[in-house]
Amino acid sequence: MPTPIHTLDRTDPLRHKRAEFVLPPGVIYLDGNSLGALPRRVLGHLEQVVAQQWGQDLIRSWNRHGWIDLPQRVGAKIARLIGAKPEEVVAADSTSVNLFKLLLAALRLRAGRKVIVSERDNFPTDLYIAQGVARLLEGYELSLVDKEGLEAALDDQTAVLLLTEVDYRTGYRHDMAHLTRLAHQHGALVLWDLAHSAGAFPVALNRHQVDFAVGCGYKYLNGGPGAPAFLFVAERHQPSVVPFLSGWMGHQNPFAFMPEYTPAEDIRRLMVGTPSILSLCALDAALEVFADVDLETVRQKSLGLTDLFIERMEPLARRYGLRLATPLEHHRRGSQVSYRHPEGYAIMQALIDQGVIGDFRAPDILRFGFTPLYLRYADVVEAVERLKRVLEQALWKDPHYQARAKVT
Ligand SMILES: *Cc1c(COP(=O)(O)O)cnc(C)c1O
Repeated sequence: MPTPIHTLDRTDPLRHKRAEFVLPPGVIYLDGNSLGALPRRVLGHLEQVVAQQWGQDLIRSWNRHGWIDLPQRVGAKIARLIGAKPEEVVAADSTSVNLFKLLLAALRLRAGRKVIVSERDNFPTDLYIAQGVARLLEGYELSLVDKEGLEAALDDQTAVLLLTEVDYRTGYRHDMAHLTRLAHQHGALVLWDLAHSAGAFPVALNRHQVDFAVGCGYKYLNGGPGAPAFLFVAERHQPSVVPFLSGWMGHQNPFAFMPEYTPAEDIRRLMVGTPSILSLCALDAALEVFADVDLETVRQKSLGLTDLFIERMEPLARRYGLRLATPLEHHRRGSQVSYRHPEGYAIMQALIDQGVIGDFRAPDILRFGFTPLYLRYADVVEAVERLKRVLEQALWKDPHYQARAKVT
């Protein structure tokens, strides 16, 4: 006998976390992998920061409220979630910009080697940034292969292996330990993108001896739209990493106003310009949600939710030709479930009108993200019921569900 759904929710060790989020009534939000929900404490904190720190204390807040150290304080909170030391992470810029900074820095540490290896299905911005870096440096090559070809693509010409741990389309999760070890055996460095990992399950960067990593602040970390991203540089590389975007916030002493650039001794050298304080404050408050959370518990619930979803979806998938794109093996799965369907876009639009928010990724992926901090098992069951309605009644055939919006 499977455990009744209400028992799963009643005994869920994370059941108290849901009340910490603002969630619109009637909506089942399965897109926290793309934009995390709003943690309640962000509202009060931002109001205080804007009214008091900005409004009253003005420029004195850089010292009085420690704005100047906020990127590192927020970085330290993220470090705990990704298996890093507090001094190895800083919150700054966007994921794309951090990729650019760290890829250049990593290549510099492997001068003489000219090949960046990545996956053809990697997230486009990761590929675009790598293409730009290869163009900038001249003589460099970006070698793109399928998942199955990664091992064979690594050799003694590989400078950097650049990968995203969880595939944004399918939710496939790479073996970070194995691929990192393999890259190191060939003398290459690794740069992992944790966009769909950080806050979704435990990550162990230092246990796997990862060199560099980046990740997103607005997905599972719930930092808000366009929240600052983060970057990780292993302590052993920090003294030798040369920042090419050498801005004043990465200077050893920004307020000495020296004409010559000298990099900061620590992770700050990867910072560039003035931090977005309001966005950082939102992310800072959002991360408090994780303060009493064990990510192993999050992972267990995530697998429970995704297993339940896949199980309940099975009859629908069979009947309506939705093809599961997400691995069934737990260790190969992130915290999302995806299905392929040629009419995926219209189906998702119709489903959103039924109050179940997921998203669509070209060419044919319906994507459902599962965020254990604010989703209940009952939500999973209800989401499948609503999708059933969309398919049974062919609601998606309404022509206005066909017109693609700018953001899908
Ligand atoms: C979401 C995501 C990004 C986003 O990059 P931005 O610079 O924040 O727009 C980058 N890489 C991956 C793998 C992502 O999933």
